[in-house]
Amino acid sequence: MSDVASSDSPGPMPTIGFIGLGKMGSPMARLLVAAGHRVLGFDLSEEALTQLAEAGGTAVHSAGEAAVADVVILMLPDSNVVTAVLRDADVVSALAPDSVVVDMSSSEPLRTRELATELAERGVRLVDAPVSGGVRGAEAGKLTIMVGGDGETVDRVEPVLALLGRPVRCGDVGAGHAVKALNNLMSATHLWVTSEAMIAGERFGLDPEVMLSVFNGSSGRSGSTENKWPNFILPGGYDSGFGLRLMLKDMRIATDLARAVNVEPALGDGAVELWSRAAEDLEPAADHTEVARWIASASPTPDN
Ligand code: NAD
Repeated sequence: MSDVASSDSPGPMPTIGFIGLGKMGSPMARLLVAAGHRVLGFDLSEEALTQLAEAGGTAVHSAGEAAVADVVILMLPDSNVVTAVLRDADVVSALAPDSVVVDMSSSEPLRTRELATELAERGVRLVDAPVSGGVRGAEAGKLTIMVGGDGETVDRVEPVLALLGRPVRCGDVGAGHAVKALNNLMSATHLWVTSEAMIAGERFGLDPEVMLSVFNGSSGRSGSTENKWPNFILPGGYDSGFGLRLMLKDMRIATDLARAVNVEPALGDGAVELWSRAAEDLEPAADHTEVARWIASASPTPDN
């Protein structure tokens, strides 16, 4: 019997394996350590391991060593990496029956369902729990967490997720990954059109602060006008911490999902094409807010 906490009988705090200590995973793992969990953290980056150890976590040197925990959280780039990690022979033998894998990466819902079936054959449960709220939300423990999985398994991991933000039950396994991808397709499309509008307005002579103030009190409001433009684009930092390539990955997951259920993602496909053009020009590590600068440079003013 696993000692994963349940809501009616708290029991001992579960040991947590945390695989993927990147921009999001590092602050999330640190919060779990601060709450008193034993966290076995693994990443390919030595620097990330050192940071976890400095925060009081236990740095381990393979995914298999992190997978011996009661709850194994993944915060990896995409489904390809998640699948490779979960099929790694050492991970397969380390995952105990009745342990729970929580994939908090933004992965592909149909592949998540396949992995859930594969793990269930060995008694291991899978919950998908991707997040929204960015690096700032991860640092503050204020993520929105989109949870997919059967109710009993979700009950077992909810106390852990609640340390990282607000878990919202979205449905069965894969539901969290589906809603996350759809959210990001909307977010990316908003950001593109907001950037076109802001650049056009500025060239017309409008004050960008005034434009944002009007949009935020009007129907053009979105996460792009309330957060991305004022915090990461106007100040010129382009430092939201969410990579452009990761955004494009999520957009493609959403348009593929739409097609799989016979919805033609006409605007979504257009957005994917535009974002792909920016991705071809920009550095692989570019922040996704860089698209605003790219749109401006792709539309030179008449005198330059
Ligand atoms: P990141 O690239 O900063 O981190 C990914 C980490 O995974 C890296 O540290 C990398 O070394 C590690 N990694 C890769 N392959 C590995 C392997 N085989 N074994 C162990 N570690 C491995 O990415 P991120 O920004 O932290 O995003 C992680 C996930 O969260 C992605 O799916 C992303 O789409 C999603 N997400 C990111 C944000 C954000 O604002 N950055 C917001 C919401 C969701």
